[in-house]
Amino acid sequence: MKYQSYQLHNYTSIEGIDKLSAAGRRAIEITGRVLPFKANNYVTGELIDWDNIDEDPIFTLCFPRKEMLQSTHFKQMEQLVASGASDARIKETADAIRHTLNPNPAGQHLNVPRIGNIRLNGIQHKYRETVLFFPSQGQTCHAYCTFCFRWPQFSGMNGMKFAMKETELLTKYLGKHPEVTDLLFTGGDPLTMSSSCIAGYVDALLDNRLQNIQTIRFGTKAFSYWPYRFLTDHDSDDLMRVFDRIVRAGKNLAIMAHFNHPVELSTNAVQEAIRRVRSTGAQIRTQSPVLNHINNRPKLWAEMWRKQVNLNCIPYYMFVARDTGAREFFDVPLVDCWDIFRRAYRQVSGVCRTVRGPSMSATPGKIQILGASEIRGEKVFVLRFLQGRNPDWVDRPFFAKFDPEASWLNMLVPAFGEQKFFFEDELEALYHDDYRRSEAKNFE
Ligand SMILES: *Cc1c(COP(=O)(O)O)cnc(C)c1O
Ligand code: SF4
Repeated sequence: MKYQSYQLHNYTSIEGIDKLSAAGRRAIEITGRVLPFKANNYVTGELIDWDNIDEDPIFTLCFPRKEMLQSTHFKQMEQLVASGASDARIKETADAIRHTLNPNPAGQHLNVPRIGNIRLNGIQHKYRETVLFFPSQGQTCHAYCTFCFRWPQFSGMNGMKFAMKETELLTKYLGKHPEVTDLLFTGGDPLTMSSSCIAGYVDALLDNRLQNIQTIRFGTKAFSYWPYRFLTDHDSDDLMRVFDRIVRAGKNLAIMAHFNHPVELSTNAVQEAIRRVRSTGAQIRTQSPVLNHINNRPKLWAEMWRKQVNLNCIPYYMFVARDTGAREFFDVPLVDCWDIFRRAYRQVSGVCRTVRGPSMSATPGKIQILGASEIRGEKVFVLRFLQGRNPDWVDRPFFAKFDPEASWLNMLVPAFGEQKFFFEDELEALYHDDYRRSEAKNFE
């Protein structure tokens, strides 16, 4: 299949779009000015059921809906567009609205490391063992998710891209940090890069014989949004050869695949793609947030995990949706996330129970909701770090006051009358340290 992308300027040519009401189209045209919008012919032709468009999970995943913006923002944008405002004016307003939507959640600026006094803007190093790398050519995706927390990267907001052009600084940084075992290519979707570009990065890593790097990971949504990336694109075979080289170099190759709904696992193309990637020796680990209107039912999760295991993938993380963008539309309270998790978890056998969650990727770390409980008459959430900015924080149970409406860490307060969570003083110290060093030059 030949890739055809759909954005605001050509979405009316999508087959099936005539099933959408006039109001539905206006929603795309208005909300799509603020939230990223991009779909393609695989998503629209094979994943979306156009006869059930009001409920369709993949339509909701890729197409902006009116309810994804606050009504005042929607009206503001609607009036502006109706008044025939210039593109520049529309963009200015869109940026202003975006700024109210917490475009850079979880203190990502704290993760940007330095060599001397140079900030390495294409790298994030939050957890000791794992470095994230944002190659500049991979800051796009085959389609965009309406819930995406990386959306500033696609909507042209200045100064918010985490991208780095050069491999030298990356390999230098990894060489100086022997504690790092994992390098994770991320984006956007790094598999939107050409295979020769990916090969350039990977070969530089392998040639430098960085003994500390044992696992190379790629975060990707290509299995869901464009499985032909692994099958019939002009450079698919080259990509398989890059994967082969990583495995033959004795590294663990882990493809961190995003699947939000079982329908994404249902086509021949995705199943073939998974088989082909697995045949290189790569592992495929899967993850997704819990999203209202898309997958907030235990049955779907149990089905997703089983299908993934049948296809020899490894269920890895269930996330809580981040506090950014169209968050309110997708919001699922923490207690419901936990309920969905355990109702799904208990339906599946041990081979599916490699999955961990629900987990919030918040400023201090990845925090798992172990459950709600009652201790000496006080209702509490039991929590633990799966990953911490300080590795010492990992795996210590801690407690927050139970709150049925809380949907993120910042809505929780410590239980038992404590003033602070155990990690808060240290986290604050990290913030101060970052501020002190913010004089450092940016490297773009
Ligand atoms: C999730 C995440 C990682 C990877 O963590 P693992 O638990 O090893 O998969 C690394 N860096 C950041 C910033 C993350 O959010
Ligand atoms: S594939 Fe990932 S990075 Fe791309 S839009 Fe979706 S969530 Fe965002």
